[in-house]
Amino acid sequence: MSTVLSVRGLSKSFGGIRAVDDVSFDLAQGELLALIGPNGAGKSTCFNMMTGHLKPDGGTVSLNGTPITGLKPRRIWRLGVGRTFQITATYASMTVVENVQMALISHHRRVFALRPYAHRLYRDEALELLDLVGMAAQADRACAVLAYGDLKRLELAIALAHAPGLLLMDEPTAGMAPGERAALMQLVADIVAQRQLSVLFTEHDMDTVFAHAHRVMVLNRGRLIAKGPVAHIRADPEVQQVYLGG
Ligand code: ADP
Ligand code: MG
Repeated sequence: MSTVLSVRGLSKSFGGIRAVDDVSFDLAQGELLALIGPNGAGKSTCFNMMTGHLKPDGGTVSLNGTPITGLKPRRIWRLGVGRTFQITATYASMTVVENVQMALISHHRRVFALRPYAHRLYRDEALELLDLVGMAAQADRACAVLAYGDLKRLELAIALAHAPGLLLMDEPTAGMAPGERAALMQLVADIVAQRQLSVLFTEHDMDTVFAHAHRVMVLNRGRLIAKGPVAHIRADPEVQQVYLGG
């Protein structure tokens, strides 16, 4: 499998604190890779350096062999790095399908001046994406009335509208009930398999991580203390001590 993302020696300090300390890893095409670690371990800081929202103090990030370190967020996004945010970024006054259409319009660089026709643009493609995330039946509902779990699935459809090769998901299931959480990660795993998408995600719930991730990396105080397949991570004594409380 080809390497989509390659991170080498990534580091970032805030004041005296080394939030991310010499982090290196690869992500292959079609891989669902989890980044776990206690609160404050440096997970979001890692994500922010990969998306261009934070400049690293040192290290490199490469996408399909091309360095993207320090590029502007918009450039990196255009190169095919998608991201879902912890904060819901949907337009509450629009319908579900309109939100996905807006994302498709933006992806295809159509100008906003086309607004009077926007309700027709990319509607079929938007409906296909909603079908993919199991929300076709809610296409014409207003976003404002959606349940939280449905909003999360809509965010996934919006992220997919940009046809990312790599999708970064920082705590995609935050605030969801356990059943909903499992369902969302199952959906992500299905889409990864179906589209050979590469996904890096963070998640607090270990059952969800161990059920779906292909590989797991453990971050503690900015340093990667373990990485490998689920069985390997579960059995690692340092991981059990530092993170799993075992
Ligand atoms: P995680 O996502 O794993 O919970 P973060 O990456 O958010 O961890 O934070 C890692 C460390 O860096 C923490 O000690 C946090 O307080 C610190 N930190 C994160 N962002 C900033 C910032 N913008 N300014 C100062 N300190 C920060
Ligand atoms: Mg975080």
